[in-house]
Amino acid sequence: MSHQKKRVGVFSLTCDEGCSIYLVEIFNKKLLEWLNKIELVYFLSIKDKVKIADLDIALVEGVVSSQKDKEELEKIRKNTKTLIAIGSCAITTQPSGQRNNFSSEKLASIKKDLEKFDYLPRCLSLEEVVKVDDKVLGCPISEENFIKVFEKYL
Ligand code: SF4
Repeated sequence: MSHQKKRVGVFSLTCDEGCSIYLVEIFNKKLLEWLNKIELVYFLSIKDKVKIADLDIALVEGVVSSQKDKEELEKIRKNTKTLIAIGSCAITTQPSGQRNNFSSEKLASIKKDLEKFDYLPRCLSLEEVVKVDDKVLGCPISEENFIKVFEKYL
């Protein structure tokens, strides 16, 4: 039986996308080594054109800040065997979920905007919404940790 390439998707919820930018560098470095093992089927910039389906590994950065993020994450979870949270935002909500630390006065002052844009009352980590299979800590992720975690699933 021929070895099937793992179908990998990279997804960005609310954040500065710093981890996925860093991922591009890691993928560039490991390109030859991983060429026969992975197929990158979904990556931020092409996300509107590709249907999320039948993934083996989903790498997700950012916090769940809005209803849209929540639905996207649930959809990713349904369509992947393994979901890996990448970066401290996805794992702890910080730093992108800094509004979780706002005072009640400050939160009250932005309440209308939060409601208008369908934001959740607080930012959630991935794990608060779906099952997460593995995590790569760091802000941005550490290359060494990423490779160690990612290669477990290849
Ligand atoms: S963990 Fe840091 S680098 Fe990664 S998305 Fe969040 S803020 Fe950006």
